[in-house]
Amino acid sequence: MFDLHMHSDFSTDSESSPESMIEAAIHSGLSAICFTDHLDMDFPAPDAKHAPFLLDTPAYFQKMQHLKDAYRGRIEILIGVELGLQPHLADFHQRYLHTYPFDFVIGSSHLVHGEDPYEPAFFSGREESEAYTEYFQSILDNLSAFTQIDVYGHLDYVVRYGPNQNQYYSYTRYRNLIDAILQQLIRHNIGLEINTGGYKYGLGEPNPCAEIIRRYIELGGETFTIGADAHEPSCVGDHFAELKELLIQCGVRYIAKFKNRQAAYFPIEEI
Ligand SMILES: [Zn+2]
Ligand SMILES: [Zn+2]
Repeated sequence: MFDLHMHSDFSTDSESSPESMIEAAIHSGLSAICFTDHLDMDFPAPDAKHAPFLLDTPAYFQKMQHLKDAYRGRIEILIGVELGLQPHLADFHQRYLHTYPFDFVIGSSHLVHGEDPYEPAFFSGREESEAYTEYFQSILDNLSAFTQIDVYGHLDYVVRYGPNQNQYYSYTRYRNLIDAILQQLIRHNIGLEINTGGYKYGLGEPNPCAEIIRRYIELGGETFTIGADAHEPSCVGDHFAELKELLIQCGVRYIAKFKNRQAAYFPIEEI
């Protein structure tokens, strides 16, 4: 099993050393992990001097390359990044990805037209369903501007933060927008990241939800990666056994691992 989404203290929102994450992964019996520390350019900051979610990429590569070698034979370490997408960042991201030799690139929506849905203010003054609609619309806007990513991260992440979370949420309710997103992903050969953070937030399923996973397959999508989005060692590989069962039920047959931005596929029963 491999966990292709985790953070270390290279991310603004984690205080965990990369070594502590690696040790936890080895302890959980994972065969490979990918660090995907945050780079969210132009993330709203209360104080312009301390812009959050920037990544010291040269230092990151130096450290991760060292750890990759140090742990060789015990666990495979891959070097990735989680880009916070916004349409105006397309050129910057293109240049950035040409500059650094990442194994794996997750594109994620952490902002909805510049606003952070993690902040309760996002949901005040809007119906929950309007907020979710705007979130999915912003994913389409992101994909119109930029598609050089390997997977889209935690696709329906916004429902973690809604006042009623996923109580009134379903794929069917937002079907037109979600179908348009999935079609764009498939057209551009972008995989779907299955993020077990949804369980941690009490949704009872991953992000995206099972219906979206099924729909992506129905539309011809084949690339799935899995990640716990751990920001601390205790969450590495979290809920993977439960997830594996769910994915098999959904009809997922292969799980992908990315190296040098190329996917290798492993039968789900064997990982
Ligand atoms: Zn994320
Ligand atoms: Zn993440």
